[in-house]
Amino acid sequence: MLRFFNTLSRQIEEFHPLEEGKVRMYICGPTVWNFAHIGNFRTFVFGDVLRRYLKFKGYTVTHAFNLTDIDDRIINEAAARNISIDEFTAPYIQYFWEDFDALGNERPEVTPRATHHIAEMIDIISKLLENGHAYESDGSIYYRITAFPDYGKLSKINFSGNRDGGSERIDTDKYDKEDARDFALWKLVGPEDEPGWDAPFGRGRPGWHIECSAMAMKYLGETFDLHAGGMDLQFPHHENEIAQSEGATGKQFAKYWLHSEFLKIDDVTMSKSKGNFFTFRDLRDQGYSALAIRYLLLSVPTRKQLNFTFEGLQGAESTVERLRNFRSLVSDARVSEGSSDAVAGIVAKALADFEASMDDDFNTAAALAAIHDMVREINTVLAADGLRSEDQSTVLDAIAKFDSVLGIFGTADETSLDAEIEALVEERQEARRNRDFARSDEIRDLLAEKGIILEDTKDGVRWKRK
Ligand code: AMP
Ligand code: ZN
Repeated sequence: MLRFFNTLSRQIEEFHPLEEGKVRMYICGPTVWNFAHIGNFRTFVFGDVLRRYLKFKGYTVTHAFNLTDIDDRIINEAAARNISIDEFTAPYIQYFWEDFDALGNERPEVTPRATHHIAEMIDIISKLLENGHAYESDGSIYYRITAFPDYGKLSKINFSGNRDGGSERIDTDKYDKEDARDFALWKLVGPEDEPGWDAPFGRGRPGWHIECSAMAMKYLGETFDLHAGGMDLQFPHHENEIAQSEGATGKQFAKYWLHSEFLKIDDVTMSKSKGNFFTFRDLRDQGYSALAIRYLLLSVPTRKQLNFTFEGLQGAESTVERLRNFRSLVSDARVSEGSSDAVAGIVAKALADFEASMDDDFNTAAALAAIHDMVREINTVLAADGLRSEDQSTVLDAIAKFDSVLGIFGTADETSLDAEIEALVEERQEARRNRDFARSDEIRDLLAEKGIILEDTKDGVRWKRK
């Protein structure tokens, strides 16, 4: 039975979807104003493991994952370059999906963009105006928090005695609001200003929070199962999503809320604004593989903070290499007919431990330990030439099952491709040692055609994919 921590109840709960066998989930996606950093990807890789594990458990998953393609940073950057916001965001959207795919994430079923859902946002704001949950002030529309007594139920922030700006996170510079906690649903813009959209309540542009309410309810219904995002989104973003959605429909918005802890670097949260970040591309350009980055990001359970270090990443690199070699060893092993009870027992235990760990609040660290235990024990069997033909598929099937959730082994094709590349790199070294530069250059060109770059380092030749 899958159990996990629900931020809404602050308890570990059993998971029971609203509709038998089906899960509808929403994860807040990136703001496409720059490259996503690996902190962002920690949250997104967890989202991917979450959706894959739900599928592993037999659920049909509908996963909506938005792109925030309008916010102040985007508007300012586009204006500074004198281009439209679409022109500004297009390359970052493309880079985002390239990185997302390269990190082995499955594409969610629905990937809506905020700017394509302005009509849906206007609808919700109109409802909130009608039922008194929103009001107009100086042409902008604000959410009236006093009309929603449940405000604070997710973040558990105690607002009593805090009216009119006790918290530094509350935007106190807007004196035209009834209450400092009220937040903008729609910001007035001038008739000539871009971007701007016409609405019954005046030309403007949406606030950030309303976009997720609109897209989540459009694709998943007014009430759905699961909503996730990084820790920093709990308040105010998710609290405001709840207020807007439940204020408009009178129904519960999401049943379960999950929040990923931060990726840190030198014990400081990785963020664009602090400048202490690495993008996926930064690390790949330094020769680290996508699989190792993915492994590192998911190796610590999502509710624990993860401190990024290069030693950790190097360790992940060796670990994924070991896992891939293990799979090759098992597939290539010369075996005799039959099966062994010992192997069946090792694999059954690993599968059971893996599932029990994932069922336990997505304990990926324990799930990985189950895989490593299996690898160690099967290696002992291999060393004694004890693997039989049926065992081979038992082990390979188990690896495929683990990997349907974690995606850390890479494809089997890549493994043989890697072996082929390594053989060529070695042959080139040999040619150079023999001063056969014609052959060495030929191999370099051959590798270049395959998109492989060679680098001479003090530790020998390293190769990476372009
Ligand atoms: P943004 O593009 O800023 O909207 O952020 C996208 C997602 O990344 C959000 O769910 C954030 O909570 C999450 N996020 C931002 N920084 C980190 C970090 N250092 N570690 C983990 N998740 C993060
Ligand atoms: Zn959101």
